[in-house]
Amino acid sequence: MTFREPDPRINEAKALPISDVVDRLGIAGLKRMGGELVGPCPLCGGRDRFAINLRSNVFLCRRCDIRGGDQIALVRQILNLSFLEALDWLCGERAAAVDPKEIARRRARAEASRRRQEEYAARAQAQARRDAQRIWKQSRPATGTQVAEYLERRGITMRALPSIPRSIRYLPEHPYVRREGGELISAHCGPAMIAVIQDPEGRGTAVHQTWIDLKNETGKAAITWQGKKLPAKLVRGSKKGGAIRLHSPAGADTLVVGEGIETTLSALVAQPVPGAAYWCGVDLGNMAGRMQRVAGKRYSGLPDMSDDRAFTPPPWVRRLIFIMDGDSDPAMTRAKLECGLRRAMAVRPGLVAQLVEAGRGVDLNDVLRRGAA
Ligand SMILES: [Zn+2]
Repeated sequence: MTFREPDPRINEAKALPISDVVDRLGIAGLKRMGGELVGPCPLCGGRDRFAINLRSNVFLCRRCDIRGGDQIALVRQILNLSFLEALDWLCGERAAAVDPKEIARRRARAEASRRRQEEYAARAQAQARRDAQRIWKQSRPATGTQVAEYLERRGITMRALPSIPRSIRYLPEHPYVRREGGELISAHCGPAMIAVIQDPEGRGTAVHQTWIDLKNETGKAAITWQGKKLPAKLVRGSKKGGAIRLHSPAGADTLVVGEGIETTLSALVAQPVPGAAYWCGVDLGNMAGRMQRVAGKRYSGLPDMSDDRAFTPPPWVRRLIFIMDGDSDPAMTRAKLECGLRRAMAVRPGLVAQLVEAGRGVDLNDVLRRGAA
């Protein structure tokens, strides 16, 4: 081997599961949250300021300056080692690294660690789905409840909406449970609007929960935990690829999708496209699916078609309209919605896709009519 040849241990090190490296470094207290390990920073402490993405291996602390994107960088920063020292630590010194028995042993250990992570994730997801089913079963019809008043407060009058969609229900005393710093907390209990998120086969896989407090102008409950403001809306279960089916008339060939329940119901009330179906896409990430990373671009707007669980419209859809809310970062919002529309066009050839803005002070009805012209 000449001096200039790249060290084969670099690839070996980068193939180690990051969670295995975390175990070996003795980083304690990290909890799995979605696709990340989150917890105290190994250098500066705290509760949840340190995170490692298990897919990209990107890690960072929000407080101190440790951050990086692979196993070697993590070892270097936690143990304060040089690049070669970190490689030695991860893979053994060059001579030792070629011992096939040692390599096989490490591979087996890495494989076991990966399996443990996957099993844990699958169990957590199954539990979340069971919770969602239980919450949906407990809920009752929303007509005549605080849900109707809440929707009126959001500008969706019951005069315009003949009945509340069956995908929206009500719970009078619903506990607000979420994960904070790796632990389940219950920060509030009160009336809530419950909506079912259905997967492409129509199975309920998650619930969307909005806690209501009609004493507040917005109609939403103000929820805090240890001085921190928490969102009044939470999803429990697996939402990926799903939607809240607010209105699906027979024979529809147009599907209008908004990010929030309220935005989508406003569009439904305006009935800008007669006979269309109206679904809520839950959030931008869900409407977009995974996006391609393109060098030099923050948001490519191009779908990563390897994301096989991303939202795609059902086969009856000939025209797909995404509503763009004006209240978040416009460049990011547009890129994500375009990503979702391009994915839909790739999956359903011949589909007409449109993006319409629900701009401030502009009648959505008007915007949608213009979009159709
Ligand atoms: Zn730190």
